[in-house]
Order: sequence, then C-alpha cells, then structure tokens
Amino acid sequence: MRWTRTFIHTLRQDPADAEVVSHRLMVRAGLISKVAAGIYNYLPLGLRTLAKLERIIREEMEHAGSSELLMPAVTPAELWHESGRWSQYGPELLRLKDRHQRDFCFGPTHEEVVTDIVRREVRSYRQLPVNLYQIQTKFRDEVRPRFGLMRGREFVMKDAYSFHADPADLEVAYRAMETAYCRIFERCGLSYVKVEADTGNIGGSESHEFMVLADTGEDAILSCSCGYGANAEKAETGALPEAPAWPRQAPESPEAVATPEQTSVEDVAAFLELEPAHFIKTMIFETDQEFVAVLIRGDREINEVKLKNALGCTHLQLASAEKIETVTGGPQGFSGPVGLHDVRVVADPTVMSLAVTATGANAADAHLVGVRPGRDFDPAVVADVNLAVAGDPCPRCGQPMIEKRGIEVGHIFKLGTKYSEPMRCTFLDSEGNEQPCIMGCYGLGVGRTAAAAVEQNHDDRGIIWPLPLAPFEVVLVLLNSDQDDVVAAAEQIYGSLRAAGVDVLFDDRLERPGVKFNDLDLIGFPVRLVVGKKGLASGNVELSLRRDGERQMIPLDGVVQAVTGLLAEERAKLPS
Ligand code: ATP
Ligand code: MG
Repeated sequence: MRWTRTFIHTLRQDPADAEVVSHRLMVRAGLISKVAAGIYNYLPLGLRTLAKLERIIREEMEHAGSSELLMPAVTPAELWHESGRWSQYGPELLRLKDRHQRDFCFGPTHEEVVTDIVRREVRSYRQLPVNLYQIQTKFRDEVRPRFGLMRGREFVMKDAYSFHADPADLEVAYRAMETAYCRIFERCGLSYVKVEADTGNIGGSESHEFMVLADTGEDAILSCSCGYGANAEKAETGALPEAPAWPRQAPESPEAVATPEQTSVEDVAAFLELEPAHFIKTMIFETDQEFVAVLIRGDREINEVKLKNALGCTHLQLASAEKIETVTGGPQGFSGPVGLHDVRVVADPTVMSLAVTATGANAADAHLVGVRPGRDFDPAVVADVNLAVAGDPCPRCGQPMIEKRGIEVGHIFKLGTKYSEPMRCTFLDSEGNEQPCIMGCYGLGVGRTAAAAVEQNHDDRGIIWPLPLAPFEVVLVLLNSDQDDVVAAAEQIYGSLRAAGVDVLFDDRLERPGVKFNDLDLIGFPVRLVVGKKGLASGNVELSLRRDGERQMIPLDGVVQAVTGLLAEERAKLPS
C-alpha cells in the first residue's frame, strides 16, 4: 500500500476529551476518529489492526471447537421478554421501535438470540455440545463512554456461547476457551493475567476475566505470588488480623456516650480513645426492594458487589440522609444495629468475631460502647461483604496480596441454565427426560484489546505496535523524493518486498523527513526501512525497529532478506 493512495491523517494536537494514552494516540495516529460520544470510525489503519486481531481470534476459536456465525445487531423485544432482561436491563439497552411500533433493541450481548437458534434445532443430547461465536458490533448506552475504544457505546466484541448436556461437558469447553483466550493474548504480545471474577447472583458458577495490566485500567486486581488472582469486586481474604484488645474495662451492657458532631469512625475512635477496628461501621443502603443496614468492622470498607450478591438484588445505593433518619430514627453518621427492627441487618464476619465493640446509637451525637455482637443484636444475614485491599492476606496462602490495575479484555462465564430454562432451550437426555441445556458464554472486546495493546506499548513519541497487531509490519520511507535515482531505488525495494509477501506501507509522500519520522513514530510501525540520498551513495538503506530505534545499514541487494529475517526473528519471540 502506498501512503498517497490510502487515507492516513495524523493530528498534532491531542483530542480534548482524551484522558488515557490509547485514546490520545489512536486518534492522533489516524487509527480512529470520533463520530459521537463513544462512537468511532475505524479508519483504514485502525481497521487493519482490528482485522489482524480478529484473525488471531478466529484461529483460536476454531481451534477451541467453536464455529463462526453472525447474528443480527437489531433484535426483537420478544426474546428479551422471555429471558426477563427487557425489564432488568436499565438504560444501557438501546431500545428502538420499528414503523409498526414494535419494540426492538440493539444487542448489547446475544445470549437470547443464540439460545433461540439452538432451541429451534436441538432435540437430543446427541446433538450436543454446540459451540458458536461471532465477531460483531454491540451497543451499550454506557453512562460514561470514555477512553476511546476502551469504553465505547458502539464496540466490536467476539462473543461465543456453548450448550451442553451436563456440567462435565461444559467444563471441557470452558477450559478450552480459557486456553484459547490465553493463546490469543499471548499471540498478541500482551502481558495479561487471568483472574477470578464475580459471577453475580446466579451463584455456583465459575467465571474468569482476562486483564491486560495497565495503570489506566478501570479494574483493581488483587493477586498473590502463590498464583491467586481476583478482581477486587470478588477477591476474598484470608483471616484478617484481629482487632486490638479493648484498651480498658468495657461496660457490661451497651452504654450511650456523647460524641458531639463526631460522625466518621476515625473521628469517633479518636474522640473516645479507641481504634477504628473496635467499631462497627453501619451503612444504610437502599435496594430495589428494601432498606438494609450493613455492618463492617470500623477499619474496613464494604464491597458493594459482594453485598449485591448477598442480598440478591440488582440495584443498590447508599440511602439519603433523610431516609437514614426515617429508617433508624437517628441522623446520618450515628447509625448502629442495636434496636434496629424495621430493616434487615447484614453483618460481615469480621463484625461477628468482635467480642465487644462500639457503634452508633441511632440518636444524634451519641454512640454505644460495650456492644456484644450476637447478644445485643442478631443480624439476619452474615456474609462476606468485605472489600479486599493490598496487604490483606491471600485466601489461599495467607501471604500479603498486592493490587494492580487492569483492563478487562475478556470474560468467560459458566452460565448454567440462566437462559436455557426461561427460554426453554431443552434436549432429551439418554433416558428420554427433558433437560435445559447447560450454557457457557465467552466475551472478548476486540477494540478494547487493541486499545489495551497501545496502553501497554507506547513511548512519548507514539505507539510501539506489537508485530501481530501493527497496521503494517514494515514501513518503507522515501526521503529526497525529488531525486529520480532515490525514487527509483525505493520503488524497486517496494516492488521486491511486495513480491516477497511483506506487509509493507510505502511512505511515498513529498513531505520533509522530520514530518515523516514524527508520523511514523506516532503510528508505530514495528520495522522501518529508510531510503535516502546519503545511504544510497554508499549503496545502503537504513533498517531499524521502532522498539529500540537501533539502526543498521543494509546493502541494496540484501534488503528483502534482511527484512524477512528480522520479521522472522521478531515473530519467533511470540507463540504462533
Ligand atoms: P465492563 O465491566 O468493563 O463494563 P462487562 O463486564 O460489562 O465490561 P462483558 O459483558 O463481560 O463486559 O463483555 C465482554 C467483553 O466486551 C469485555 O470483557 C470487554 O472486553 C468488552 N466490552 C464490554 N463493554 C465494553 C465497552 N463499553 N467498550 C468496549 N469494550 C467493551
Ligand atoms: Mg465482564
């Protein structure tokens, strides 16, 4: 491809809305351009990167036994009514009406549609398993679309779905997908981790996320040298250090003490000469069904994802100051479980293991000391709602865990019968009994993975594409385009590289060298070949890698061999 025949337009300025490197660089390098919030054009260079990634994905999906199909982007509401998601999905679901006022939505994911395909055809266990995937445009009306392709509203996803007669068969497919995902990210040259992920409140299922490590990642990951790794939303901890002993004689029964204007646990603790870990922190939440009082040890924080799962609710928010007053009888900052009758109380185990403690008195400017969990209040639910943080002991080996940031590029999930049951996607087992199919689903963000590759591979001049994802592997740069012999040499090299099947872009523009080099650094082609007057005078061209910039002079008649040799060397560094 010749630069002057394609469509590459780089920008000098960062886009005003770009908060992260990948967004900034992908727009500036002319890979993508914005159409509306979270909606992008994939320009020729950007599309080449996506196509290369998709090719790797397709190879690994086929290898894992999945067959490609393509489902529609616009899907009828009836299917979503059947699964119950038409009402469960909030404003993220883009709903449309056709000319007959029938409801449709633009698919944010395709469990319903694929389940409908399978239920029409599968009758017997002999037709299982089924494993299907597609690479397709999704739409999710995200609250905060941002970061370019990382959190778009319209984005490309690879989504696969598998259907099985029994859990053991799902297990086989799940492991094959897990391997395929590892291979995809390894082949792309990305450094990633696989972590345990939240399974929501379906329960019992297994789920893993694949995270590309990057400081700009939206997810927190806790991991340990023993190999444990989990999304912070889900991470457990080993036994936490016990609260320090009560520093003086604690009252035998709960005793109110004045704590004027001391609302935070830290402030009250300092005021009463206690430690935060001596306290019960009581937070009042409002769910889709009820108010709940949630108790956590004073030195810890609540993990709202765990809490949602424990409560089995879909929406959860902190109650307003007025509602807290109505529910507890006391102002915000003074809530406590003693004498709370009208709300369900959920306690973290860290609270129940406190022998004696202090907490809000549900009255202005007052706390209770000498409270004994189990005796003075009895929670309806005891569940782990503790937010794990760096330094907490690993649940497997007890060593302190570390926290990293990651970009969730893939998510695999044992769904069980969540969709097959309500949608009646069933088969007859070997005894002739009708059973719902057992399902798995496997998502991978195509655009997000490309963006994550940029987050992980760049410097202050631009992108440094890993070879497998580069829009072109090699760029051939013509300097001194006013000199016929230089042009002729460059044309000749271009022709022979193409003949050798090299993925090359010929920068044949009449631009100054400085402009060209800035663009090439910005876009980040892995291999650069420079043809100029100076080198040619001694019969050479200059070959370098974007990664280290180290240049070598190559004689004209050895160019193709040098380039193909270098590419082979680079390819050998990654699995193929
Ligand atoms: P997130 O937690 O980041 O919102 P999710 O859990 O909703 O993602 P899934 O439903 O598991 O995402 O979707 C599968 C994959 O699709 C994700 O792992 C991610 O790579 C990609 N993806 C999801 N939402 C977006 C988005 N808004 N923009 C780009 N890619 C996305
Ligand atoms: Mg996810």
